[in-house]
Amino acid sequence: MPEVSTFSTTRLDVAGVPVAQLAEQFGTPTYVYDAAKIVERLDDLKAFDVVRYAQKACSNLAILDLVRRRGGLVDSVSAWEIRRALAAGFSPTGDPPPIVYTSDIFDREALDLVIEHGIHVNTGSPDMIEQYGERSPGGNITLRLNPGFGHGHSQKTNTGGEQSKHGIWHTQLEDCLRRADHHGLSVTGLHMHIGSGTDLEHLSQVCGSMEQAALTTGSSITTISAGGGLPVPYKEGETYCDLDQYFALWDAARKRLEESFGHRVSLEIEPGRYLAAEAGFLLTEIRAIKQMGGNKFYLVDAGFNNLARPILYGAYHPISIAPSDGNLDRPHEDVVVGGPLCESGDIFTQEEGGYVCTRSLPAPKSANI
Ligand SMILES: *Cc1c(COP(=O)(O)O)cnc(C)c1O
Repeated sequence: MPEVSTFSTTRLDVAGVPVAQLAEQFGTPTYVYDAAKIVERLDDLKAFDVVRYAQKACSNLAILDLVRRRGGLVDSVSAWEIRRALAAGFSPTGDPPPIVYTSDIFDREALDLVIEHGIHVNTGSPDMIEQYGERSPGGNITLRLNPGFGHGHSQKTNTGGEQSKHGIWHTQLEDCLRRADHHGLSVTGLHMHIGSGTDLEHLSQVCGSMEQAALTTGSSITTISAGGGLPVPYKEGETYCDLDQYFALWDAARKRLEESFGHRVSLEIEPGRYLAAEAGFLLTEIRAIKQMGGNKFYLVDAGFNNLARPILYGAYHPISIAPSDGNLDRPHEDVVVGGPLCESGDIFTQEEGGYVCTRSLPAPKSANI
């Protein structure tokens, strides 16, 4: 794993394949994924007993299949994500469960599906326990807990604390254990995914909270999950988190639990972006360049229907130009990059709140970015 990431504003290939060739063969816009990068990231996490891919980061079937072949398991948050996991070859049942359904609700279709296939559920609300227990008493469930605090790179990715809809509120744990017990459900694991972009001091707080909740739950616990949120560098100079320290904190909590319970406790991690973000590229062609007062716009053939994160929460994605003449030595200019949709928010260079901003990019002639 590199210490610091570097980004270039020019790029002529993805995984050794020329961008111009990809654009010609597949047209634009098109998504391209670098499989080796996903494998590399999976390997970074091999200290954990289970790496469970949170497929909402990218549920492309080829990627799910790759993760499966490389020993990863999968998290599904909807009926269709369950169907995608099954289509990619994951078995519905096993130990540890290959597919876990993690959500705060069951829609009717998802509830039918988990029961039909015997898929493990990670419940994020007391109502889910009741609904599942009524239909399928006597099995195992895990609980997603909200420890009462959170963390995240934006308000929309913060998944802990009282502003978040996610998980079972920590003070309701005992009530939920009683509900599970009422249906003969055994609580075999706890899960906390409290926000993307975590720091280690904060993490030790999370581990402490997990440990306490596991002790309250008792020795039925055989799994704890650290959730996802491993940071990914998006800009020059941004860093990864220290995975050794990250693992050490969770491992210590797990070991203390093993000692209290007198049996093994498996440690899961549930990355989404960490596996997929640096592997994915959206190829799009600049189709028009126009000056609007003081702003220069590059208009491309991909829009927020192809990449929603900038319009959703002002996410910053690196942009590179692949000049069709191969000449990388170009002057830079500050530009706004937008798509073809008839919506003023169809801008890739925007900040949270929808503020349009500029990016310094090499001047194209007629190029793909
Ligand atoms: C989104 C999500 C993750 C992964 O978050 P990343 O920030 O992409 O690592 C993990 N678990 C659950 C339940 C999620 O919804």
